[in-house]
Order: sequence, then C-alpha cells, then structure tokens
Amino acid sequence: MNWEDNVRKVVPYTPGEQPSYRKMIKLNTNECPYPPSPKVREVLQNFDADRLRLYPDPAASELVEALAARCGLKKEQIFVGVGSDEVLALSFLAFFAGKKPVLFPDITYSFYEVWAGLYGIPYRCPALDEEFHLKKEDYLTENGGIIFPNPNAPTGLAESLETVEGIVAGNPGSVVIVDEAYADFCGCSAMELVNRYENLLVVQTFSKSRALAGLRIGFAAGSPKLIGYLNDVKFSFNSYTMNRLTIACGKACLEDEAWFGETVGKIVSTRERMKKGLKELGFSFPDSGANFIFARHETVPARELFGALREAGIFVRYFDRPRIDDFLRISVGTDEEADCLMEFLKDYLEKRKA
Ligand code: PMP
Repeated sequence: MNWEDNVRKVVPYTPGEQPSYRKMIKLNTNECPYPPSPKVREVLQNFDADRLRLYPDPAASELVEALAARCGLKKEQIFVGVGSDEVLALSFLAFFAGKKPVLFPDITYSFYEVWAGLYGIPYRCPALDEEFHLKKEDYLTENGGIIFPNPNAPTGLAESLETVEGIVAGNPGSVVIVDEAYADFCGCSAMELVNRYENLLVVQTFSKSRALAGLRIGFAAGSPKLIGYLNDVKFSFNSYTMNRLTIACGKACLEDEAWFGETVGKIVSTRERMKKGLKELGFSFPDSGANFIFARHETVPARELFGALREAGIFVRYFDRPRIDDFLRISVGTDEEADCLMEFLKDYLEKRKA
C-alpha cells in the first residue's frame, strides 16, 4: 500500500498565463483594460488595517444587500463568493448531486468538466451547431442539471433570452445555471427571469465589467430556496469566503454606476472597432457579445499566429482542442492596444504573403 493510493487524482483547469513583463499587451484572460472605479481606490486608501484582526461577516451582508438592490431582488436571493469560479464550484457541489448526467455544451468554459471530474458528477456535452449556437432541443432531454455561459466562452456568442427561458422552463426537474460572466457586454441577462423560475441560478462576476479580477468577487442570484441550499454547502466548507477588504471594495464599486456604464461602453466600442479591423485582415468570428473575440484567419493557422503574437509581446489565448484549434481568443483591450494588435497582424500577414 502506497500513500498515493489514497490521493484524489484530478485533472486541473489551466488558467491563462499571467506573465509579469512590464511592456506587453495582455489580451489573454479577458480582464478589464481600465482601472477600477475611484470609489474602490478610496476604500483601499482609507481601510483601517486594525479591523483585519476580526473575522469578516460570514454572510457578507453589506455586499449581498447592495447586490440585491442592484438586481431588484431580496437579499435572500443573492449569494457571494471568491470569484464566480468559487460560486460555480459550490453550485456544482450543491445542485448536481443526482445520478443523471449534467449537460453543458461541447465547446464551453473548460472548468465545467474539471468540477464534474473533481466531484465525480456524470456529464454529457451536446455539440454546438456549426455556427457555435446551442441547440435548445439538446437541453430538453433527461438530465441531472444544466449549465452554460451566456454569452458562451470562448465563442463570445450570446443566445437569446427566449432560448434561455425555453431551457429553464423546459426543465422544472433540474437546476439550470446560466453563467453570465460576460453578460454586461451584451446587455442580455436572465436576471429578470429569476423571480419566475425557482430552478434558475444566474451567476455573474466583478472580474470583467467591474475591473476587479484581482479582488475575486462573484455572485449568484436565484430563488430563496436555491440560495438557501447554496449557503448550506458554503457553510459546510468555509464560513468566511469573503474577506473584509473585498466586501467593502465590492460595495463601493456598486455605488459607481456612472463609472460602470462608461467602462462597459468603452469596451463595447473598442470591440466593434476590433471586429471591423479583424474582418479587413481576413479573420472571421462568431458575432461576439462579450469582451473578447474568437477569431480564425482565412489562411494562416491560429497556432502560428499565437506564437508570432507572443514573440511580439502580445498575449492572446489559444485552445488546442477539437473544433476550436484554429481560433484565437482575443480579449478586448483599450483602443491603443487594439491598434497595436491590428498593426502587428497587418504587418505579419503582409510579410508572410510576400
Ligand atoms: N465563467 C466563465 C465563462 C469565465 O470565462 C470565467 C473567467 N475565467 C469565469 C466564469 C470565472 O471568473 P471569475 O472567477 O474571475 O469570476
């Protein structure tokens, strides 16, 4: 008997690189290219370190109440966690405890299969259609739960609220999780359905549209019953997931709607510019509703472009997986970053042709 026989062996998720060069263009992990709201900076500057002596509020009430007000829901309908990754990980544990397979698309956020593997949850991955759209009928079959991002990652493609509602309404016997990490960039959210469907959980994050990836704040909205079950699992795991500083910063960020609107507006406008520029350079892509574009070039392989960009200090994401290994996922940066990317690509493609 070897001690390793008793070890849980899992295949972990591989996050995007976080290189530490000063001079680089980082378009590989869908972060916000702008600094967070000045209200967050204010909290950080005025924070009293003495208070760190005390445990934080295990319910993170200040942040939960601010989120409930923002979403037009009751505080019993909101759950917060350390990034939406933690919210999702705890949701898998709480809601996918049955024996039937959980459903998520074949091309999607690759952490889903990792959590399923970690917990030993059976799952099935219906294929997206040729245009990368989800086929609603695939999700109207027997299942132990459903999860998909909207907009999807890494495609950036958003499904209509009608499709989402069809899936939620068609599955009263299972929990449907809509992962809305990127929903702020397309203005379409299932949040408005939360009061109508007890089985719907909508998960969002402060990492993208609120420029707080480094703080780690995610949240879920759902029926009080669903949130109650999620809290039971969380309090069986770690009472204090959210620290004092993060709770205060998250609340301050929610108080700055003007900053939020302006920041999302800038990102959407750069995204549309990037779409135009990339098209002119011979790229095609699903019409992104997110803060990234999932693009393939008409002649040059993605793997080659990924390497060339990297050499030039421009980081994008490449997934060596079936059906998507000829695509690059390019985060939307500032206008200047987008210009640098496009200039480099133009130059590279021209030289390659010559
Ligand atoms: N869901 C999707 C679809 C994502 O792309 C990400 C970002 N990697 C997350 C959830 C997790 O984001 P975070 O933990 O930073 O909130």
